[in-house]
Order: sequence, then C-alpha cells, then structure tokens
Amino acid sequence: MDFEIPESLRMMQETIRRFVKQDLEPISDKVEEEDNIPEEIVQKMRELGLFGLSIPEEYGGLGLGTLGECLVYEELTKTNACFRSRIGTSNGIGSMGILFDGTEGQKRKYLPRIASGEWTTCFALSEPEAGSDAGNVQTAAERDGDHFVINGLKHFITNGDVASLATVIAVTDKKKRSRGGITAFVVEKSTPGFYTGTIERKMGLRGSHTCELIFDNCRVPVENVIGGEPMIGQGFKTAMGVLDKGRLTMGACALGAAHKLLELCVEYSKERVQFGKPIARFQSVGNMLADMATEIYAGRQMLYHAAWLRDRGKMVIKEASMAKLFCTEMACRVADKAVQIFGGMGYMKDLPVERFYRDLRLYPIYEGTSEIQRLVIARELTKD
Ligand SMILES: Cc1cc2nc3c(=O)[nH]c(=O)nc-3n(C[C@H](O)[C@H](O)[C@H](O)COP(=O)(O)OP(=O)(O)OC[C@H]3O[C@@H](n4cnc5c(N)ncnc54)[C@H](O)[C@@H]3O)c2cc1C
Repeated sequence: MDFEIPESLRMMQETIRRFVKQDLEPISDKVEEEDNIPEEIVQKMRELGLFGLSIPEEYGGLGLGTLGECLVYEELTKTNACFRSRIGTSNGIGSMGILFDGTEGQKRKYLPRIASGEWTTCFALSEPEAGSDAGNVQTAAERDGDHFVINGLKHFITNGDVASLATVIAVTDKKKRSRGGITAFVVEKSTPGFYTGTIERKMGLRGSHTCELIFDNCRVPVENVIGGEPMIGQGFKTAMGVLDKGRLTMGACALGAAHKLLELCVEYSKERVQFGKPIARFQSVGNMLADMATEIYAGRQMLYHAAWLRDRGKMVIKEASMAKLFCTEMACRVADKAVQIFGGMGYMKDLPVERFYRDLRLYPIYEGTSEIQRLVIARELTKD
C-alpha cells in the first residue's frame, strides 16, 4: 500500500494553501458580512484554473482526478465555505452532466468557457415537490417540433444568480418519469423565458447564493438536450451520475473545515487559562480534542481511499456514499465540540468557529441527505 500523495498534487495543495492564507483568509469576514465574493478574488480563482479543476485538459481544464479535486477542496474549505461553493458548483454538478453525457459538440462549445471561468454554471434539479425524491420533478419540457418548451420552478439552486448556463432536469414523459421520462438540458441564461427568482435567506454559507429559477415558456432547441436526441428521457441517469461524483467532493469540503476547527481548538485550548492552567490540561477538554482528531483521521482515510479507487476506474457508489455520510456528519460533531471548547467565545461572531458551525450544518443535507446516503449504502449491501 502506498499512502504517499503524488508530488504534482502536493504542489497543487501548496499553491492552494498559499492562496487561502494570502488572499482568502484576510477577506473571509468581509465576505461573510457583505454576503458577496469580490470580483478580483473570482478573477484570481480563474487565473489559478480553479474553475476547470476536473475538466479535462483537452477542454481547457486542469484535468485533475478525484483525489486531486478532493485535496483542493479540502484546502479551500479551511476558510469560508463560500469560496469553494463559487467554483465547486461550476466545476462539479453544473458541468459534469455535459462532461459525462454531452455530445462532442456540446463539450467543445461549453467546457472551455466553463473551465476558464468565463461562464459559471449551476445544476437545477431541486423543486418544492422534488428534493430527495428527485424523480418527482414538476418542471416540464414539452416537445414542439425541433424545440422543447420548458415551464416550471426550481428552488435552492446554488449560483443560480451568477450562472450563465444551467443544467436543467425536466420531465418529458410524466408516465415514465425516472424510467425514461426525465431529460437533462443545457440552458443558457440569456434564453428568453429563463429568469432568476428570489434569492433565498439561509442559515449560513453567506457569500454563496441559492435561488429560485423560473422557466416560463422557455424554448430550447433539441440540440440542447445533454447528449442530443438519443438521450431524450435519459436525464435521470445523467443527474444521478453527477450527484454520485459530488459525494466525494462534499466529503472533502467537510473534512477541510473539520481539520481547520481542530487546529483552532488545539491552539485556543493551549492559550486559554482557567483555574490557573491552560484548559487543554483538563481531561474533558483533552478527550474532546482526541475524539475530534480520531474522527478526522478516520474520515480522511476513508475519503482518500474512495477517491483513489475512483481514479483507478472502480465503481465506488457505496464507498462514495459512506465517505459523504461519515465526513459530513463527523464535521458537524467536530464543530459542536469546537463551540464547546471555545465556550462563550465559540458562540460569538467575532471568531470563525460560530460560522463554521452554521456552514457545516448544510453538508449532511445537500447533494443527497444522510438518510439518502444510508439508503444507497443499504441498497448496495443487499442487492443480488
Ligand atoms: C444551501 C443549499 C444549496 C443547494 N443547492 C442546490 C443546487 O445547486 N441544485 C439543486 O438541485 N439542489 C440544491 N439544493 C437542494 C438540496 O439538494 C435538497 O435540499 C436536498 O436534496 C434535500 O431535499 P429537500 O430539501 O426537499 O428535503 P426532503 O427531501 O423534503 O427531506 C426532508 C427530510 O426527509 C428525509 N427523507 C426524504 N426522503 C426520504 C427517504 N426516502 N428515506 C428516508 N428519509 C427521507 C430527508 O433525508 C430529510 O431528513 C440545495 C439546498 C441547500 C439547502
């Protein structure tokens, strides 16, 4: 067994670490307050190639594998989670449908613009009646000659307001639904009948917006079906393929934040003096640190191993769900202990612990809740 991270990925990790320290960390509070990432930071992300992390080099991306992508996200989420969200949605769920199932023409048309960061993308699946039950989408695309006409409402769509392009999942045959009646479309934001609705108010992840997307007689040509004519009705598989891959990167995001919280707690517990000694010397505080470190260690091994397997072409449905489930729930437990170790200061907005606690609560919910991950794992365990 070789546990070494390859040299090229180590260098990438170092570059991102420097970027986080020099450029992101100093503005993290301001971004939180203003609920906005400054354009010059987005520009630096473009220059670093972050918008094209997992897009193959032939389409202008960096072509990192899953492990490489996880390592980058782990570093980025040691600071405000919104920075990762700004690039991750575009790199990940927003564009993976095109990469996995798109026609060569679609890949050549869209991927270079996405990889360069010229165009941000979003993934529009969720709706008021279709969350975990993704097959129940009500947004409908009706065929009209060589066009489809899309009508419906999406909600909770990350980057929906800044995206120039959306992967839209719509029902094309209400009888068949997930068995051949759902289609994935690529829809440019400039298409008439495609609007941004309300920007939703959230518990955390300030700096990253989620919003409604409205389709009102939005006409798109058949060429905009991801994969073209033969993929009409096959969009549920495209959507599930996209989400499968996202599970590992979600685990990496949770891991990075948990790691940062542990670092903050170790430092604070050595400095904070009560009853005449640093609180780190109290066994109950030490136990919390030990539990945090142990869980992070376990999560990291699980995640890297699953990413490594995927990079070797193995099917990792079960492993990816396990890593997402464990790492995201583990990070919430770590955040809870971090608030406890910081005491009253952990509850104050002056320190980042409070923000991490709120932001981390999202990870066991989106891109498949913990309950859905358990269903997937159990299904994989018991299938014939
Ligand atoms: C900040 C944020 C950003 C998001 N970004 C995007 C995005 O970019 N694109 C997008 O399409 N969506 C996005 N989402 C939506 C997200 O993926 C959904 O919220 C998530 O899938 C859960 O769906 P739901 O909210 O409708 O909850 P529900 O599906 O209503 O679930 C409610 C509860 O019931 C449980 N439950 C549901 N079904 C089952 C079952 N079969 N077995 C056991 N338990 C079950 C759930 O686990 C959960 O605990 C985002 C959400 C948030 C909060």
